[in-house]
Amino acid sequence: MNKKKDIRTYYSSEEFLAIQQAYQHVLDAIKIDIDADDRALIQKAYELAVISHVSQRRKSGEPYVMHPIEVARICVEEMGLGPVAITCALLHDVVEDTPVTLEEIEAQFNPQIAKIVDGLTKLDGSYKTDSPQAENFKKVLSTLVEDVRVVLVKMADRLHNMRTLGAMPRHKQLRIAAETSYIFAPLAHRLGLYNVKTEFEELCMRVTDTEIYFDIAQKLEETQKDRNKYIETFIKALKENLKDLEYPFRITGRPKSIYSIWNKLKTKKVGFDEIYDKFAIRLVIDVPPEKEKAACWQVYSSITNDFRPIPERIRDWISVPKANGYESLHTTVIGPQGKFVEIQIRSERMDEIAERGFAAHWKYKGINTASGNYEIWLDNVREILESPSNDAVEFLNDFKTNLFDEEIYVFTPKGEMKILPKGATALDFAFSIHSEVGCQAKAIKVNNKLVPMGFKLKNGDQVQVITSKTQKPSENWLKVVVTGRARSKIRWAMKEERRKIGLFGKETLQRKFKNLKLDYEENVEFLVSHFGYQSRVDLFYDIASEKFNLSTELKAFDISAGRLVEKPKESPLTETSTQKEKDSTKEKQEKYRTKSDILINGEPANTYQYQLATCCSPVYGDPIFAYLTAGGGIKIHRTGCPNATNLMAKYGYRVMKANWVSNPNASFVANLLITGVDDGPGVVESIMNKISTQLRLNIRGLSIDSGEGYFEGKISIYVSSTDQLKEAINGILQIETVSSVTRVK
Ligand code: MN
Repeated sequence: MNKKKDIRTYYSSEEFLAIQQAYQHVLDAIKIDIDADDRALIQKAYELAVISHVSQRRKSGEPYVMHPIEVARICVEEMGLGPVAITCALLHDVVEDTPVTLEEIEAQFNPQIAKIVDGLTKLDGSYKTDSPQAENFKKVLSTLVEDVRVVLVKMADRLHNMRTLGAMPRHKQLRIAAETSYIFAPLAHRLGLYNVKTEFEELCMRVTDTEIYFDIAQKLEETQKDRNKYIETFIKALKENLKDLEYPFRITGRPKSIYSIWNKLKTKKVGFDEIYDKFAIRLVIDVPPEKEKAACWQVYSSITNDFRPIPERIRDWISVPKANGYESLHTTVIGPQGKFVEIQIRSERMDEIAERGFAAHWKYKGINTASGNYEIWLDNVREILESPSNDAVEFLNDFKTNLFDEEIYVFTPKGEMKILPKGATALDFAFSIHSEVGCQAKAIKVNNKLVPMGFKLKNGDQVQVITSKTQKPSENWLKVVVTGRARSKIRWAMKEERRKIGLFGKETLQRKFKNLKLDYEENVEFLVSHFGYQSRVDLFYDIASEKFNLSTELKAFDISAGRLVEKPKESPLTETSTQKEKDSTKEKQEKYRTKSDILINGEPANTYQYQLATCCSPVYGDPIFAYLTAGGGIKIHRTGCPNATNLMAKYGYRVMKANWVSNPNASFVANLLITGVDDGPGVVESIMNKISTQLRLNIRGLSIDSGEGYFEGKISIYVSSTDQLKEAINGILQIETVSSVTRVK
């Protein structure tokens, strides 16, 4: 690389100034003392980044180097990371996007930095895999277990990309948002990076559910003033209450995230007002670590003298921190005007851990009881990585179920505590003790009672595993465990078992080949590929267990010069099978839409075979995208479809842009959930009447459940567009007994 390249010929003087200012901002944000060597390292990384990215620009048009500089700023300013992370952030795209090699990074910087940059560099496209996204993620995590800064810089990188997503084409926005909500948001949560997690969720929602996002944002803004006023009054009262506290403290109001409001609206089925009426504040005490616990409870006791607490709403994460390190004391009290106010009480140290999670973990290693939990978690990640399955998609699934969104605490008979993800079973517990205990689990007792292996554990359960040397894991076990540790151990044990049994099959095969004077290596490979086996072990296993009858199967071949060759085939298709084939083609044709009412990548979709996905049933007017399925067909999903998020996160390269073409004859199925007051037999009739007679829409299906004066009905109707659907929803809402109508998937 020519270092003398004059960067001024590539940038306008304004751009050049902006780059320098952005970099100065990074330096200014470093609040800790760093020595001259570290300063020189950062400076060198900056210079290399500027020169290497000189000819690149971002989609928005700005110089590319602004991106690594901004990622470095997030690392230092928002995550509180140090010089190594800043250096790596500046270099994170250099190897991936420019001719600079890892070897050069190692020579110019040091092996540690080269290692982190390597972890941040995507695998090149030539890597043969079903899901490059999953492979890349696996790579990031393999480096994570060696140096956690990899994943923290990766988070900062993703955060900046999400913040600047607007410049990307729509289908890319969707893919990136899906990946973010599928992997990065839960990972941020697991690492205790709450602010990052919240921002990820909001930015994703803005892409996939734009309309609701701005709707809630607007409602929030409208009510902002009143809420601020209320919080101010309450904080004033609290300060008065705590004026005799011997430690300094600060109180802040906590804004609600748009995403969390949306979630509450969806799950709790309550109105906006009810949600907006809840307040949350945070009280942080500046107290030395050895006195913090007592100080938090002192504050609690003082507050609850003046404000009545709601007993079931107390959360003590101080005595038992969450697995991700979170420590805090939460209580909800009844404030002025009878409104609920949640108060989070914590020390400055706890607050830093709550804000910075994993990043702060290193600072407080030893003081914080939760740092041990991170070590356990990292061990789990390591274990999943070492699992014998090399399938990255499987790895991703295992990893996701083990992010421990929520955890439960259970105990061994000796009272030792184990932390498991919510939903973990008795068998998961056995594997959490030791893989041998898991593999040999014969019976399990929970609170002294025998339970099935798949028994779902609850907080506080005491679990005892009874083992037997003759026990062996089976395929069924995979269905009753949820932890990656248990899954990978079971798979591994089963593989071992198959391999052992397979040895007999291998011997049988060797004998047979010897008798027939067949070359072993060549003909084994032939059989494996001819019968479509995944591996030799699978073939050996089937021979040993007599699922594959060697003598019969070999009769189908001729032998020529020591090799098996296929015999010439007779007419293979019988009358019935041809008929069957014809029928299935006809079915297929009916299933696929032929009229072109969609453009895929700008072309009429009838050049492809495509279907509207039944999971989300898109209707003309919905924001949509096209997804190329593994079978080769195309499915059209709504952008907010949860299935689609999963697919896009793993196979984002299969996502294509799709647009509707107006087609007055088109009709789509929409599913509605209707709830209301059941005041007699007229309910079904009035709904039917409204839809068919007044709105003139066709009904595809209708089912209504009622009881205790309340009904819930599911109805499928045919509509031509989202406008017509809205009209239908509003129409049904006009029926007096109906209280809600929601479109469902
Ligand atoms: Mn980047």
